[in-house]
Amino acid sequence: MRFSVSWVLHCMRWSYLKCFMPDRERFDRRLVKKGRRAEEQAKREFSYMKIRRGRNRELYFKNYTLVGRPDFLTREAVLEIKSGRPSYSYILPGLIQLNLYMLMEGKRTGLLIFIGENTKVIHARFSTHAVRQGMAYFDALWEHIQKGVIPEGQPVCNSCSFAHVCGGKYVESL
Ligand code: SF4
Repeated sequence: MRFSVSWVLHCMRWSYLKCFMPDRERFDRRLVKKGRRAEEQAKREFSYMKIRRGRNRELYFKNYTLVGRPDFLTREAVLEIKSGRPSYSYILPGLIQLNLYMLMEGKRTGLLIFIGENTKVIHARFSTHAVRQGMAYFDALWEHIQKGVIPEGQPVCNSCSFAHVCGGKYVESL
């Protein structure tokens, strides 16, 4: 089974649906464009650091493989770009995602960058605790899949790309 690093700490029901019905996902084009614009802006703002795009990477665990591509890299650091303001609900998942990318890249330094009206940069050192938190999430997701139990949803549904199939008859019959 392959899980994307970017799913970490998402509503677990969302990740479960992502595994079983990826073709049913409805992307919000506005959010996709916003994310792309943020990456372009970051590319310009941080060009002085000689950044380059990350490559697809894989991390192998006993029960699953984690896949992902860091947004940008320098010689020493991984850069993860988010669009919008740095609220708590984005910072923790962003830092765990960043640490999993650091593990993939063998780097000890990371920058979590929020591109909005004002760019905010959070500097991070590699943390095994953050990696363990990420793995605990994917272990729990794996367990749900193994048992065929759909995870509880979390109240983060405003812009959820699976809202149209979540909690209804369709999900119950998976
Ligand atoms: S609609 Fe809400 S509970 Fe359902 S998958 Fe999306 S975020 Fe989770």
